[in-house]
Amino acid sequence: MVQKQPRFRIAEIFGPTIQGEGRRAGTPCFFIRFAGCDSRCVWCDSPHAVLPQYVNQTPRKTTEEIMNELGALNAGPEWVVFSGGNPALFDLQDLVDLCYSELGLKCMVETQGTVWKEWMEDVDDLCVSPKPPSSHNMLDREGLHEFLVQTAAMSTPPYLKIVVFDDNDYLYARMTHYYFPQFEMFLSVGNEDPTLPTVGNPEPDPSVTMYSPQSTQDVVLEKTRWLMERVAQDPQMSDVRVLPQLHVLAWGNERGR
Ligand code: SF4
Repeated sequence: MVQKQPRFRIAEIFGPTIQGEGRRAGTPCFFIRFAGCDSRCVWCDSPHAVLPQYVNQTPRKTTEEIMNELGALNAGPEWVVFSGGNPALFDLQDLVDLCYSELGLKCMVETQGTVWKEWMEDVDDLCVSPKPPSSHNMLDREGLHEFLVQTAAMSTPPYLKIVVFDDNDYLYARMTHYYFPQFEMFLSVGNEDPTLPTVGNPEPDPSVTMYSPQSTQDVVLEKTRWLMERVAQDPQMSDVRVLPQLHVLAWGNERGR
């Protein structure tokens, strides 16, 4: 009997671009955005990869089709980022193996830390991004601990990346760093452009004042200064790194960047 190949809902495959956040910020890469997520962060700017009304309309692709699409992009990067949605919901062992063996690409995975899959042991970089209180989907300490203990066999330990919108989020980051100091931590500020579709507001009112790309960047920079000042004056956060979202500074909220 011929075995049916698994298919994955793919919101976007794009690149070359740069990784805008975390340990490898600035690194050239491709992106595969998987559609489907077990969280519903209100400010999430990828509703097309989260909300069922959009996810159900995204094409389903086999591993071979994904590989063909990736291979057809302009060459350059040595990395491919699996993002989402939550890529940890899917069995991506074959895709990880083929990216390396056929295209020579190293894999980075971005996940919120709610679901562990064994194939993640084989990736070259794992970003765990637990969601803070402002998301309305906060991952608690026990949940994060359960996930992180399973990463023990990874040759490169994962790192933590937390998006900070307000004081409560900062306290969450601080508490997380206190309980898991062995994991590198990166912080960046959230993007609050009211014209941007989000999970909490997938169809923003078009009459809301439009941001120009410049003002998006001004807002992000102002908030980043606020966050840098907090971290710089906080002895408990002396080994935490604050980064702006580089892709937002370069391209604003343009999709596919
Ligand atoms: S921010 Fe991440 S975890 Fe939260 S809903 Fe969006 S894709 Fe899912």
